[in-house]
Amino acid sequence: MRKIIHVRTVFFGLLCILPAMSIPCLAGPDYSTAYGYYLKGELDKSAGEYLRLAQAYPRDIQPLLDAAVIYKSLGRSSTAIELFEKALKTDPYNPDISVESGWIKFHEADYQGALSDFSNALRINPLHERALLGIGSVYSHLGKRHESLEYLEKYRKIRPGFAGADYIIAWNYVNFKMYKEAEGRLIEALRKDPFFIEARLPLAGIYVREHKFNEAWNQYYRILDYAPGHPFASEMVKMLEGKLTKQPEEIRPPFKITRPPEPGISNAVSFLGKSINLRVGIGANMAGSQGINKTLKIRSFHGFILAGKLTGKIYADAEPDETWSINFENNKLVLKDAKQAVYGRFTGPILLRPKQTKTGSTLWNNFGDGKIAAERHSTGSIVFERIKNSKNPYFANSDREFRGIIELYPVHGKGIGIVNIIDLETYLLGVVPSEMISGWPLEALKAQSVIARTQAVMRRALEKHKKEGYHICDSQHCQVYKGVSWETPSTNRSVIDTQSEILTFRGKIASPFYHSSCGGYIQASSDAAGWGSVSYLDGHPDKLGAPLQPQDSPWKFHLWITGTPASNCNYPGVASSAHFRWLRIIKHKDIEYRINREYNVGPIKAIIPLRRGISGNVNSILIKGVKKSVTVTKEHLIRNIMGFASVKSTLFEIEINKFKNGNIRNYWIYGGGWGHGIGLCQSGAAGLAGKYWKKYKEILDFYFPGTKLRKMKYVRKN
Ligand SMILES: [Zn+2]
Ligand SMILES: [Zn+2]
Repeated sequence: MRKIIHVRTVFFGLLCILPAMSIPCLAGPDYSTAYGYYLKGELDKSAGEYLRLAQAYPRDIQPLLDAAVIYKSLGRSSTAIELFEKALKTDPYNPDISVESGWIKFHEADYQGALSDFSNALRINPLHERALLGIGSVYSHLGKRHESLEYLEKYRKIRPGFAGADYIIAWNYVNFKMYKEAEGRLIEALRKDPFFIEARLPLAGIYVREHKFNEAWNQYYRILDYAPGHPFASEMVKMLEGKLTKQPEEIRPPFKITRPPEPGISNAVSFLGKSINLRVGIGANMAGSQGINKTLKIRSFHGFILAGKLTGKIYADAEPDETWSINFENNKLVLKDAKQAVYGRFTGPILLRPKQTKTGSTLWNNFGDGKIAAERHSTGSIVFERIKNSKNPYFANSDREFRGIIELYPVHGKGIGIVNIIDLETYLLGVVPSEMISGWPLEALKAQSVIARTQAVMRRALEKHKKEGYHICDSQHCQVYKGVSWETPSTNRSVIDTQSEILTFRGKIASPFYHSSCGGYIQASSDAAGWGSVSYLDGHPDKLGAPLQPQDSPWKFHLWITGTPASNCNYPGVASSAHFRWLRIIKHKDIEYRINREYNVGPIKAIIPLRRGISGNVNSILIKGVKKSVTVTKEHLIRNIMGFASVKSTLFEIEINKFKNGNIRNYWIYGGGWGHGIGLCQSGAAGLAGKYWKKYKEILDFYFPGTKLRKMKYVRKN
């Protein structure tokens, strides 16, 4: 269906006369040419073709609506409104059409016109979602507080999981100077979606106004967690520091590890067979390189032993719960014991291994001849204590705890390098709960375990981190690994149950891409810039039994992205609804700041999504500035410029909201999903397991059609 079929629509009439030839009788116009232009981002051509179809088939309003949606995104609002009005003459009782006409008028600051359209729609369907949101927003601009809040509350009740509804209501409360109420709504939006950074800024502002400086400081700080260097938040954090009534640690309590893992968790390794060793870079950033570590503090609940990696010589034997430190000085590692006495200086790598609670230390002897194997039945762990003011944010606010062996080495001119040498299967115990919610159905966790294992094996073979000295890093760059303190019984179970299974395609390791939520339609890898064409990473609806076809209409896509369509990943109560559908309203100056920081286009005149995948994901976007125009095509770059921090995905539609004088006020971004949308949809996997009782093999088959599960035979070198 993705090939554009150039069949002249005039022939369809003829085809219908010849049923004996078993050619399907296609009544009505063929949209494929127009839709093909739309997907390619040739919007003028696409709209022109839709208009041609509209003329040829005057009783069919579909092409009028498609053309209207395209003109809307091109900023040609009056043309779009005309087309909606024309469509309404044929189909006057279609509330969707009135509503969209109303929204364009609203964004053009024609509030009376919008009010009339929304009222029409509500007469036909009093619970029409977008009409309720629209009329509530119009009344807000008209200063009618009571009416505005009444309609917006109705809208919120219809979409209970949608954080965007709470956010809009909060926005309106702020307009009406009802700060207490706004605070409540913003807290609710953040409860539904803790990553909703845009909601933290007004909340922090309200806290400042209420003189709740501790809370305000905390919110600005959290904004910096997600948007490091944000100028206003940085300024406010500094400004508020002098006004705090509590210690920063009391407001943002660091994560402390005070007890060894529960026996049920620590024993999980005894169910795992021997696999291969993995070298995991610890404390990596999003780009996969390690942060700067000048000091580390280390202890173990069972004590630890420290040895030279190359010599195998044991240098230190620390008692249980003693905290030792290692500093980086003159390109050497300086080891200090629990009493802060210098214990040794090292120019090469050292190894730390927790002492055993049960099985003795037979493995330790292997260090000398290079056989660095993680202990199979080790229940021990190494804890890195939080380093206040560490230059590496990874250690600044949290203790960290790992199974296996820790290797430390001096990185010339930088600091201490940290690698966790760990058995692959044991490593996965710390990955699955970092990448998926442990309370999700077991079969979804098992699918995640298989792809996490596949990912690790693939990364190890690709040697992407060879120059840094590890196979895989612990951040999103490769896959998130948070160590033993994150392990849970259910995720451990999922690793044990799928032990040694990986995903393959034609005998080779498959590329096991996954994302949090696709928003309802899996994106084809070939549609996204730089991903290549892979047969098992094709686009399809994330819906059981749905036909494999594109969305096939700009108008239908618009209704789909602004609505709540059925999908495996639309799974309220389990997978967060706030990720399935989201709304961001970003101020013009915020987007202008972000875009100009990267592209220096000057004041922005328009932002127009051009190329889309069959899933609807935006794969190129045009930014028209006064100085110049740029087209952005890379997924992460598109996401970066469209948000206050970064929007959740490229599956979105933009509405540009203007002042009466035509200047841009803000951008309303209606989006779906979280992540790149390629491969396995984690929320969809939860839906397949929880709603339809699918097994993990069926889940993997659904997202990676044509791949096979294979059991690895672990062969150790040496
Ligand atoms: Zn990496
Ligand atoms: Zn999905």
